[in-house]
Amino acid sequence: MRDDIERTLISSEDLARRVRELADEIAATYAGRPDGLVIVPILSGSVIFLADLIRCMPFKMRVGLMAVSSYRGATTQSRGARVLQPLGIDITDRHVLVLDDILDTGNTLRLVVDQLKRQNPASLRVCVLLRKPNKAPKSLQVDFVGFDIEDVFVVGYGLDYNDLYRNWPGIGVLKRELYA
Ligand code: 5GP
Ligand code: MG
Repeated sequence: MRDDIERTLISSEDLARRVRELADEIAATYAGRPDGLVIVPILSGSVIFLADLIRCMPFKMRVGLMAVSSYRGATTQSRGARVLQPLGIDITDRHVLVLDDILDTGNTLRLVVDQLKRQNPASLRVCVLLRKPNKAPKSLQVDFVGFDIEDVFVVGYGLDYNDLYRNWPGIGVLKRELYA
């Protein structure tokens, strides 16, 4: 797997440090809301981020899964987004935090946010581990961002190419000759 990674963009140590900081920011934002928080990770890219983040926040919360396809597969181009698995739990009057691995064109998050808003949560915020600020639309507001990165295709720490590389511990740039 190492041979397929051109360079490391964010090391596993830097990820761990920043995830802990994000958890502190999030915990402070939701302090004093005993009704609890519902974390909604967008599968599959955010699973590692989810696992690390929520273990830095040892207070009562619910986790509701949602799966969205961004039609990437064996390509690195976004072609819109589609909900594969809708949220299975009730978020009416609850505080919801959507978690995604990366904000690129914003198609995924716009779709998710629109769908969740219709279920009347008490509040709705968004946290992304990575953001490509050159491409992310200004109109799509995110509340917590781990790292702003350059516009390159990255893998690791949950992010895949063609379902591979999710278990790479850092965020790396995939060798250009490996993708279409
Ligand atoms: P958007 O809908 O904002 O264009 O893209 C969001 C989704 O596309 C992310 O949840 C992620 O699954 C995928 N994606 C966007 N950029 C990258 C990237 O650089 N690497 C990988 N592996 N996936 C990406
Ligand atoms: Mg995704």
